Amino acid sequence: MDPLHDSAVAIATAVNRGEMSAADVAETVIPHVARIDAQVDAYLQLTPELMRAQARRVDARIAAGERLPLAGVPVAIKDNMCLDGTRTTAGSKILGNFVAPYTATAVQRLLDAGALPIGKTNLDEFAMGSSGENSAFKKTRNPYDLERVPGGSSAGSAASVGAFAATLSLGSDTGGSIREPAAFCNVVGFKPTYGRVSRYGLIAFASSLDQIGPFARSVEDAALAYDAIAGKDPLDATSIDRAAEPTAANLPRDLRGVRVGIVKEFDTAGLGTSIDTCYRNAYDELAALGAELVEVSLPTAKYGLATYYLIAPAECSSNLARFDGVRYGLRVDGADVGEMYERTRAAGFGPEVKRRILIGTYALSSGYYDAYYLKAQKARTRIAEDFARAFELCDVIASPAASSPAFGFNAKSDPVAMYLMDYYTIPVSLAGLPSLSVPCGAVVPEDGTRAMPMGLQLASPLFTERALLGYAHAYEQATRHADKLRPVTEGAR
Ligand code: GLN
Repeated sequence: MDPLHDSAVAIATAVNRGEMSAADVAETVIPHVARIDAQVDAYLQLTPELMRAQARRVDARIAAGERLPLAGVPVAIKDNMCLDGTRTTAGSKILGNFVAPYTATAVQRLLDAGALPIGKTNLDEFAMGSSGENSAFKKTRNPYDLERVPGGSSAGSAASVGAFAATLSLGSDTGGSIREPAAFCNVVGFKPTYGRVSRYGLIAFASSLDQIGPFARSVEDAALAYDAIAGKDPLDATSIDRAAEPTAANLPRDLRGVRVGIVKEFDTAGLGTSIDTCYRNAYDELAALGAELVEVSLPTAKYGLATYYLIAPAECSSNLARFDGVRYGLRVDGADVGEMYERTRAAGFGPEVKRRILIGTYALSSGYYDAYYLKAQKARTRIAEDFARAFELCDVIASPAASSPAFGFNAKSDPVAMYLMDYYTIPVSLAGLPSLSVPCGAVVPEDGTRAMPMGLQLASPLFTERALLGYAHAYEQATRHADKLRPVTEGAR
């Protein structure tokens, strides 16, 4: 067994059988990750001592006869999730010195299942962005071309798994932050139904949209991680009390007779010939595997971006009010408390976060609330209704995960150009649906020479995670697109 390159399923099996100890996994992985990360910068912080201590606990539990679903599996955690006693920054200067006093439920569930924490990964500040470039601390590189972005906001969580510097990772997805970077980094990224995974200990961005989910190099591994983290949590009132069926064992692997909806309004011709060809080819592959392609219509999806960029900033302006220099992280003193707030927030937040707070505060202010926020909530309902109608005609909807392959650093100076990356993922988020990105081929970008990975987004009705993972698994096993590309960091093997 090779703990650097094998699947989570293979690692857990070997560790449970005593073929390799979790301690040996940790000692193999620790120096390897440091070598790879010197090139990719996926991590804000490595936690080797925590990893070793957890490995000892896992080995003791296994010696006592326990069997653990993620025994000895190395995992990376997006740095907007709390891990007791470690710095948790959300990619922001305002939390630059914040040490979490407790552990997020999703993270705790991974640890309880036997996973080994490698470290905390880089992200766009407070998860606002689509490239990772909004991090206050560093630029994570795309492991498939170091001159390109890994996508965002879960930049380091996608890049670490894509670079073989983690077997699994956790990300958070508000409007596409798991699916878009997964597409850019040649990995599977899975956002469960809103409410399936507890948000307790996740630093809030937009609470009605935020959802934690896994990155993995296969659908089966993503399912294994999902099984560990999903389920009701009394500490998150929005977490759903509905038994999640285990998905990893016996994933359905057949697409025959499955009705796959192709969205009329999501015509990809405007994205350029090579991107269009890639997605059309993916739809053809689904059909060749026995799926029945049906045209569906989402007439209000085109309002998704406008709707999201009112609701998400409104919620963020409220959520981020707590960062005031009094309770958490950075404080810049002033003559009085008002000046202290102003100086702290001016120094602590980056430009994109300030933009969102301004938009959100404006949209919620009296006199504008009805025109903007309330209207956006109505549009959100219409979008969700469109999806519900589409699912009368199909079992799953296939679409692009992102509008392009990974782009170069500083390529998108206009914020709206960046927002457009999530054109296809945002409507799905507004509807709360389970959704994932699975590798579907490669495209040589117009400004590049190297083929970059592409992702197919699949979205299914609320709470149908198992079926969704099954369709993706069938597609992945038949096409094996991810295996056709190698990260440029692989020399560090
Ligand atoms: N890119 C989108 C944004 O900037 C989505 C981010 C996310 O899903 N966290 O808001």
